[in-house]
Amino acid sequence: MAIHYHCRHCGVKIGSLENISYDSGSLGIDKLTDAERQEMVSYEGSGDIHIKSICEDCQEALDRNPDFHEHDYLIH
Ligand SMILES: [Zn+2]
Repeated sequence: MAIHYHCRHCGVKIGSLENISYDSGSLGIDKLTDAERQEMVSYEGSGDIHIKSICEDCQEALDRNPDFHEHDYLIH
């Protein structure tokens, strides 16, 4: 299976982890609340996992404009 990371703001593909064995502990998924997990993590029928994260460009934009997404959940 693979894990794919996409930017939640601009949708760009950040990267993928291929051929890993599922371990939610090492991914930090188990530290999320159920609501966060529903919001950020989606599972495909193939077994792949898609995770919404943030790309460097958007992170930079947020750093410059801290109010830009003040109502959006951000990964710390
Ligand atoms: Zn982005």
